[in-house]
Amino acid sequence: MKAYTYIEKGRFAMTDKPKPVIEEPTDAIVRVTLGSICTSDLHIKHGSVPRAVPGITVGHEMVGVVEAVGSEVKGIKEGDRVTVNVETFCGECFYCKHGYVNNCTSPHGGWALGCRIDGGQTEYVRVPLATQGLNRIPDSVTDEQALFVGDVLATGFWAARISEITEDDTVLIIGAGPTGICTLLCAMLKHPKRIIVCERSEERRAFVKKHYPEVLLTTPEECQVFVEAHSDHGGADRVLEVAGANATFQLAWQCARPNAIVTIVALYDEPQVLPLPNMYGKNLTFKTGGVDGCDCEEVLHLIEQGKIDTTPLITHRFPLSRIEEAYRIFENKEDGVIKIAIYN
Ligand SMILES: [Zn+2]
Ligand SMILES: [Zn+2]
Repeated sequence: MKAYTYIEKGRFAMTDKPKPVIEEPTDAIVRVTLGSICTSDLHIKHGSVPRAVPGITVGHEMVGVVEAVGSEVKGIKEGDRVTVNVETFCGECFYCKHGYVNNCTSPHGGWALGCRIDGGQTEYVRVPLATQGLNRIPDSVTDEQALFVGDVLATGFWAARISEITEDDTVLIIGAGPTGICTLLCAMLKHPKRIIVCERSEERRAFVKKHYPEVLLTTPEECQVFVEAHSDHGGADRVLEVAGANATFQLAWQCARPNAIVTIVALYDEPQVLPLPNMYGKNLTFKTGGVDGCDCEEVLHLIEQGKIDTTPLITHRFPLSRIEEAYRIFENKEDGVIKIAIYN
């Protein structure tokens, strides 16, 4: 089968690999029907994910149909349409039991698919600990509607959840890339008083304006003044930083009102500085959290009810055979791309 493979730093290529088989009784084999490209795939390509193993098939965002299940897999059977969780987790350790599946202590746990073991930019994938790693897609939900449940939407859902958003809040979201927009959709579920999105790219601001006209928009340069003018207490009650630049990290705490919650979703290339003397008396609560994919079932239910729709994010569609072209567009942010669906 065709498998898009991490060859070495700077190079992915299409290779031929044998179809995967069940190796452990907790495994499942999934026929990938739809996948996507994530910024983390680019991080692997650029060599900034030291754990990534050369030779593995990349891709960790996918949906598909279960082909086979091991004898110990529960709740999933052959023929089920499923989302695949980016995180592999045991469901039994201290962290899993408390809903922190990202911190699972199992040796298989964490981001394995498309990083340490073969992932989903291919035709078939072996999913370890499949009882936890797969969620059945409701019949009325399409593959495209479910595509982001296991990764980028799980990230947005987690970010909105830990930010403790209330209906009185002014919420500032910094960054309107794919994760920023997923965060926006999940923040909207909390019905805050207003949401402000700060985004540098004019193209992406236009995207937000078109699809979510109730959201207020600003740029990094104007953000602080804009937020002060459009909030009730001199700053945002909740700030969610999804952009990941040095300047946006500073913006996040600067735009927060005293006693606000600042949630850092972004992944930075370098350490960030908290200028504590300048922040003295602001009494901020900082939270950090990348993806913690423990709510996929709930997210699928919300999609089924029509409360979350990420399909507008799919701006491009390519067959697996043309994935190289898709990477070029995604990497260079060409042609207004937000997310690309790769179909088989
Ligand atoms: Zn990802
Ligand atoms: Zn665990």
